[in-house]
Amino acid sequence: MLQPTTPLARPATGAHRAVANVNDDYERWYMEGTNNNRMLLSIRSGILTEIGWALDRLCRLAQNDQFFIRNIPGLLDALFEWPEWYLVQAGDSTSKSRSLFCAPPDVERKRRFALDSLAILRNASLNESNAGDISQHKKTKPLVLASLFTLRATTDADSEFLLYCIELLHLVVPGWVIPPRSQGAMNPIPRLLDMSANSSNRSIIIGSLHALHIIFSTPANSVHLTADSPALEASLRYLPLLQDKPLIDACVNYLYTHLSHPPMAKAFLSHPNLTSALKLLVNHILSEQVLEEQSRAVGPQLVTTPLVASPVARPHELTQAEIATLLTLQEPARCFEWMNMMFTEKADGEMTQVEFWTQYRDRFSQLTPGNTLPAADVIKHVTAIFPQAQAMVVNIGTTQRFVVRGVARRTDDVSAERLKCAWGRVQCDAPPCASAGALADHVLEHVNAIEEVEHECMWGLCPQTALSKDALRRHVLTHLPESQPTPLHPEQGNTISLPSANFPNPIPNPTTRPHPPAGKDSIPIKKVLIDPPSSALTSLLCVRVLFRTANASVETAPKRDADHFGFPGVVEDEEEDVQEDTTMDEREEQALERGKRAFMRVRGLLSEVLIKQDTLQGWVTEMVQASM
Ligand SMILES: [Zn+2]
Ligand SMILES: [Zn+2]
Repeated sequence: MLQPTTPLARPATGAHRAVANVNDDYERWYMEGTNNNRMLLSIRSGILTEIGWALDRLCRLAQNDQFFIRNIPGLLDALFEWPEWYLVQAGDSTSKSRSLFCAPPDVERKRRFALDSLAILRNASLNESNAGDISQHKKTKPLVLASLFTLRATTDADSEFLLYCIELLHLVVPGWVIPPRSQGAMNPIPRLLDMSANSSNRSIIIGSLHALHIIFSTPANSVHLTADSPALEASLRYLPLLQDKPLIDACVNYLYTHLSHPPMAKAFLSHPNLTSALKLLVNHILSEQVLEEQSRAVGPQLVTTPLVASPVARPHELTQAEIATLLTLQEPARCFEWMNMMFTEKADGEMTQVEFWTQYRDRFSQLTPGNTLPAADVIKHVTAIFPQAQAMVVNIGTTQRFVVRGVARRTDDVSAERLKCAWGRVQCDAPPCASAGALADHVLEHVNAIEEVEHECMWGLCPQTALSKDALRRHVLTHLPESQPTPLHPEQGNTISLPSANFPNPIPNPTTRPHPPAGKDSIPIKKVLIDPPSSALTSLLCVRVLFRTANASVETAPKRDADHFGFPGVVEDEEEDVQEDTTMDEREEQALERGKRAFMRVRGLLSEVLIKQDTLQGWVTEMVQASM
């Protein structure tokens, strides 16, 4: 590491030198900020090995951000010596054939000194203070301009030399106004345009485009711009190389500087590659986008419930055994027992009194006609059996409902129903069997007990007419349930969608359930995570400039008439050259139309651009909407 030197560094004494830290780059006495600095003396010595040593040392020091050229007085002058020698010998007519023949070793060595000197200047210029010193130095600009004028990148050494000079040019051109008639070495623009368009060296292309970008950023230099600038063509040519970020950066910067001049932007609307250029610029913005996919729920939330094989509870019907029990009883005990069998206490249960009474009447008017209790008595007995139950009148609006509260129909668990015997038209009293096999054995017992030769099937409501006992045995097996539960249809999910959250489930007949509300439950949304890099923003600026140019209309500006003074900047047509202006106007209108059409073509691409900042996103939205 380099020890930073300060102006107040102690004068080096012999004693001090003896104890100096001799680690690499710590040799303080080489770094002393005086005219007799060892490195400076070595460069000036004329001894090649000494010069080589000093430049080698400086090359390493120049990369350090604590290296200040001004701390070694005279160093800057010394560093220009070898580059100047290089230019003189390169311009010498006797060395024209140097790309063909190998140079003598000492010439080769001196060329190396020149390149090293420039490399030191270039690396040191990364530090702002050094950059200021180098750009202010009286030798910098002449050297750089002369090298651009003289050198052609035919050899590697010349290319390297040119590249350093172009980078040093970046330091001297800001704010430099190049007079319109400058020629030769005083006008670097033609040479830079030529290199940006025709060089095969990527670094030289980037450097040239960047230099042009700086030069044309000074508005007074816009007189040198042409609509068919080779640099414009080069920028468009390299724009698809999205992976090469430094190159793309230089291209979009140049494009932006070029298009920032309104006449150039207007002229670009007539450019044959306008649409492709727009597409490339938008593509560049898109390629820098960092998106996150999100999904947003829309519409009513879909209510689902897991699909479970929960059997629907079925209202209890009296079995043969229960009916037999009831027949042995007298009223009102029979009514009490019937209620116990048919109903159960349920806090939120409710049934109408008519319903309740109809159940009783239907059952007993059939079994023991004429021997039934009156309706009022039956309703009254409910409270005796179910203390919490209550017969009451509910007023709903103007209508009255007579209900019994606190009771509900007793329900049967039908999960075992599959394995229950249904022989004998009414339910067989045997309890549900444990398995399908046991049920088969049980049913066959019924068949075997038949005494007739032929008999109809007695299973449930089976319409099978008389069969021989053998055939009947085979037939009854068709009534038995499968040993495995029926598999679900492959497309059936494991949830059920319900119309609403409190819709009852399960219900006896699921096919009558209303459809759940329609509509997608979520839509994908793209969200930008970070702001785009500056090069993408420059691309956006280029697109925006072209959009504004294509949509700018002189017609919208107030014209001068009896009531208006006219719009400043809008030159009104003069009477004498109406003819010429008409064709100019027509051509201009065609260009605007062309620009608008180009925007219509890239609208789809443009609508995919997402930018975090609202203002910039507003630009994009405006451009998309205007191009509909
Ligand atoms: Zn049975
Ligand atoms: Zn049958």
